[in-house]
Amino acid sequence: MDRAGISEARCKLGEELVAKGLTYNRESTRREILVHCPHCLTSYKVDVSTADIGWDKDYTWQVHHQVCPACNRKIVFFAMYPKTPGMQVVTRLAYPKGVSRKPIPPEVPSKIAEDYHEACLVLTDSPKASAALSRRCLQIILREHANVKPQDLRKEIDEVLASKQLPTYVAENIDAIRQVGNFAAHPIKATNSGAIVEVEPGEAEWSLDVLEELFDHYFVGPAQAQKKRDALNAKLAESRKPPLKTP
Ligand SMILES: [Zn+2]
Repeated sequence: MDRAGISEARCKLGEELVAKGLTYNRESTRREILVHCPHCLTSYKVDVSTADIGWDKDYTWQVHHQVCPACNRKIVFFAMYPKTPGMQVVTRLAYPKGVSRKPIPPEVPSKIAEDYHEACLVLTDSPKASAALSRRCLQIILREHANVKPQDLRKEIDEVLASKQLPTYVAENIDAIRQVGNFAAHPIKATNSGAIVEVEPGEAEWSLDVLEELFDHYFVGPAQAQKKRDALNAKLAESRKPPLKTP
């Protein structure tokens, strides 16, 4: 690929960055990429520095790097521009190892937290593996905490939506897992939720986002509400009044 080709390819780099967890503002120019720092999760605009590191028979290689102005940590990724026309630019986040997410709330049961943690760790290396772990997490939450009947994941999502137990925005987002994941084209995703199968662009990240919302709904919110009720009951007890009635 020649220099003009590389310029052209860099225009497409944003979409690759989204897939690697480094978000990119499509409105911005190439010199002003909106990066979502994989260390501290802050978003900022940056003029990415680029260094040519040569070529081999398959690719022209560059290193893209910048320092996050919020946490002052380096972010480095490789960009590989294929010599074969029509092939996509490949980017690999080289440092840090994975994209940070919000810390896992302590209220999340450990077997769900472990799968979620692993889904975050492998996201950049294998979106397929990450999405499979996320689907498995989702299925455990639906079966064990949303009380849906065990069946395939698509029907379980139907059942939780029909039960109207989720806030509208979470319900819409969980429904989108089927659409983004294109379950119609990949039915194995629903019938064997942990299977490693092709993923759509953005699917793995989306699944992690939805899991975070479900953690808040099923684990964090109820635990915080219980803590508030306990505090109020303690005050009522001090005043020798009966405790709140349990719902
Ligand atoms: Zn940062």
